[in-house]
Amino acid sequence: MLPRFELDVHTHTIVSGHAYGTIREMAQAAGERGLALLGFAEHGPGIPGACDPIYFAALEHAPRTLYGVELVYGCEINVLEGGKLSLPQRYMDMIDYGVVGIHRNCYTDQGREANTENLISCMRHPKVFLVSHPDDDHTPLDYEKLVAAAKECHVALEVNNSSLWKTDRRLGCVKNYETMLSLCREQGVPILADSDAHDPLEVGELSLAKALLERVDFPEELILNLKAERFKKFIGMV
Ligand SMILES: [Zn+2]
Ligand SMILES: [Zn+2]
Repeated sequence: MLPRFELDVHTHTIVSGHAYGTIREMAQAAGERGLALLGFAEHGPGIPGACDPIYFAALEHAPRTLYGVELVYGCEINVLEGGKLSLPQRYMDMIDYGVVGIHRNCYTDQGREANTENLISCMRHPKVFLVSHPDDDHTPLDYEKLVAAAKECHVALEVNNSSLWKTDRRLGCVKNYETMLSLCREQGVPILADSDAHDPLEVGELSLAKALLERVDFPEELILNLKAERFKKFIGMV
């Protein structure tokens, strides 16, 4: 059995345009569930209804602790065809951490090799520390190349709890995570379990991800959720 997870750094508030809680409601839920650290990774440009990037320019006003929970602010940036990030550089400088992910709202499948190259090209940005939900064969990935690039670029790979209850829509999700985790273990690449919460009810809901990690006996030392300090160190905040 793995110890309790202290953090959840991939969540969305109303700022993302299709999520239902405010920062305060999400933080309150995190406090009630005993999280030490909560991260907001609002959607970047490209997702319908996502905020104007000026949101990221005003983060100095955003609370850093609420309900006893430390708060960090990132952005879930879209991988665009051609391997470009959807968030302009000036905003990259203003976030605590970048998350990159492929979303079919603004990306058409380019085939396994090109999808992987496009994602890796985004992972090379120094502000990017996490790949969100690399698990869906609608936009297939080459896991050997992805894991090798994660190691080279100092980027963690996510086990997305929401994908694990949307397996009807995330093609090959469980099999893809098994392949990815086995390569991460071999190569010493860290992973993060995240809720991808779009409502306070989902904050810190990591049980499916945790069960998968336990089932494959994934090494504790490669799981960034175990200590808030471990994650903050990984993104260079301490
Ligand atoms: Zn996403
Ligand atoms: Zn998300």
